[in-house]
Amino acid sequence: MKKLMAANWKMYKTREEAKATAEELLKLAASSLPEDREVLVCPPFTSLGVVSEVFSGVPGFFVGGQDFYFREEGAFTGEIAPGMLLDQGAHFGLTGHSERRHVIGEGDELVGKKTAFGLASGLSVILCIGELIEERRAGRVEEVLERQLRLGLADVPNDIDPERLCVAYEPVWAIGTGEVAGPREILEAHAFVRKTMVAMFGDNANEIRILYGGSVKPSNCAEIIALDNVDGVLVGGASLQGESFSQIVLA
Ligand code: PEP
Repeated sequence: MKKLMAANWKMYKTREEAKATAEELLKLAASSLPEDREVLVCPPFTSLGVVSEVFSGVPGFFVGGQDFYFREEGAFTGEIAPGMLLDQGAHFGLTGHSERRHVIGEGDELVGKKTAFGLASGLSVILCIGELIEERRAGRVEEVLERQLRLGLADVPNDIDPERLCVAYEPVWAIGTGEVAGPREILEAHAFVRKTMVAMFGDNANEIRILYGGSVKPSNCAEIIALDNVDGVLVGGASLQGESFSQIVLA
């Protein structure tokens, strides 16, 4: 299974800035990218085209959307369809990112509809899940992760190509805070995610990549990526500079 090193640029960068960062990343990481790694950049929608052009023809480098709606087209002001992401050269789309859930207010059912529709439309989808600090303190981590997985993947067919589905475990308290989950917390959560997905999808789920996200940086990436059941990382802040993200990609 190839490790997926994913960047989420959130609401940062003009097209010119995005192009420059993507070019710098390629310069620093493309020639030495190990065979067993893939790189994904999720820029704002406005920069999908420009980053796709920079990555065009470079093996192992992909582009993705940070979110999308569960319809092909229609009167859905402000939304974007999976087909439109594909048209901009994207292969991936995120669903259920913590900021969509906790800043914008998306619930599990909506996240589930998006995940199933994105997959059915031909995107590879990364479903993001993770508990709030209050939920962890109350001993509810497994309950929250199980609910987010069961509702988030409710309409995904059992025979889904496991290469096209990833789950990102991102404890909310570790996103953008500088606070990283410790190895034990990551191991426990990822093992639970694996077990729950095997219960849902059978052996197929052993091939579904589980990414860790939450304040990953060049200094901690090697340790995190080596843990059992960690099949990649999803990186926000430290992915915004080509230099630091390239160190993560090659860690
Ligand atoms: C994220 O946005 O998914 C994320 C993990 O952010 P950061 O790396 O900044 O914590």
